[in-house]
Amino acid sequence: MNKDRLLCKQCANTDMSSMNFSNDGKYLYCQACGSNTPLYDAYIVYKEDMSDRVASVVVLAQHQMENGDYEHAAQEFHKALAIASDTHAAWWGLYICEYAFAEYYGFRDKYNNSGHLIKANILIDLINRYANKAIENAPQDIAILYGKSIQEPLAFIQNARTATNTKQDKRCYVATAVYGSDNSPQVVILRNYRDRVLLKTIFGRGFIRFYYFWGAKLAKHIPYGSYVAVKTRGFLDNLIDYISEK
Ligand SMILES: [Zn+2]
Repeated sequence: MNKDRLLCKQCANTDMSSMNFSNDGKYLYCQACGSNTPLYDAYIVYKEDMSDRVASVVVLAQHQMENGDYEHAAQEFHKALAIASDTHAAWWGLYICEYAFAEYYGFRDKYNNSGHLIKANILIDLINRYANKAIENAPQDIAILYGKSIQEPLAFIQNARTATNTKQDKRCYVATAVYGSDNSPQVVILRNYRDRVLLKTIFGRGFIRFYYFWGAKLAKHIPYGSYVAVKTRGFLDNLIDYISEK
């Protein structure tokens, strides 16, 4: 049986429905008494079969994390996982450490670029590699607390993606009118060609500007299945064949 528990050292509260992790994931916040408990004090029992060795490594790492020594903390968490790969507290600790590293370096990719989308991709990576492992391996009530803690990064990811989509994903107006759907295979091929090839040349970018201006106006006058649509489709089919051969 799983006996993981979280405890508020101030008021001895163990009711996890009245607890949260702090935004940085380092503290347990107790709504009953309003106090924060560092993680090394908060996890009182890990698992019935969790060896003392794993528990002591995790607690040591949590102490180091609390002191801002993320480098050593991360090493210890890895040690704990090498002994028992289902130690959710160690996965969570790694998530916090790696998040702290990424934040320290300004959420940059390996080419030293930054921006909302790059930060979003880094957050996805951190959540997939560490936070989700903690959630998978934790008992349900603790998993819920972990889940609440990643709501903020998840919302950031969602916003970054929405902003990018509205900015970049202009439609292939005419093609959509001709093929009936924004997601038809032909439209997808044309859109990929636009992003991969056209956007990279001056002529291509000029064409795209021209197309967006006139395409939207033109598309209104091409009812799906009409004579013009069928003729245009013939032309676009040839174009798609041509693009696909390249
Ligand atoms: Zn309390």
